[in-house]
Amino acid sequence: MQIVLIGPPGAGKGTQAARISQRLAIPHLSTGDMLRLAIEEGSDIGHAAKQYMKAGTLVPDELILKIVDDRLAHDDCRAGSLFDGFPRTISQAEALDRTLEEQGRKLDCVLEIVVPEEALLERLAARARTDDQPEVIRNRLQSFENDTQPIIEYYRSSGRLTIIDGMGTPDEVFDRIMKVLEPDSA
Ligand code: AMP
Repeated sequence: MQIVLIGPPGAGKGTQAARISQRLAIPHLSTGDMLRLAIEEGSDIGHAAKQYMKAGTLVPDELILKIVDDRLAHDDCRAGSLFDGFPRTISQAEALDRTLEEQGRKLDCVLEIVVPEEALLERLAARARTDDQPEVIRNRLQSFENDTQPIIEYYRSSGRLTIIDGMGTPDEVFDRIMKVLEPDSA
């Protein structure tokens, strides 16, 4: 099963990604983690990506697609993958569709974990360091929304987007996700 997971900071995406990955026995593919590993290993992609990540800007699509393609070729991706932090641009989303199609696969589901802004602000404030002012947190959320909106729209318009209510306990949110991914066994 091929799944894309989207959610703002504070939505519990990391927790849910780990649980989905474990339950479905598919790898959790976070492009941020892959890039950090590439930098640690000192690979060419790592060298090329470093400056962008330091500046907090997007790493060029070409490098991202290369790192994702390489990862998808590993055996553990045969049963499927859970993408996190990817795609971040429309051209990455289109490339993912193409790559999967070439492999005779398709994206089964795009899950967007949605939490009202007030609740996100509360959660992020609770885990913030003292220098994280409310305004800084609000800006992070705003920039996530601006960056992700086109991707959400891309998947919504092709009928592949499912919205998950991210309020409640991690167990409750996970149950909602599994009802979507495995409707028959829930
Ligand atoms: P993350 O861990 O997902 O927050 O990613 C950390 C940084 O890695 C981002 O700020 C970007 O510089 C880079 N990055 C991760 N995923 C992507 C992607 N899909 N496209 C472009 N840049 C990315």
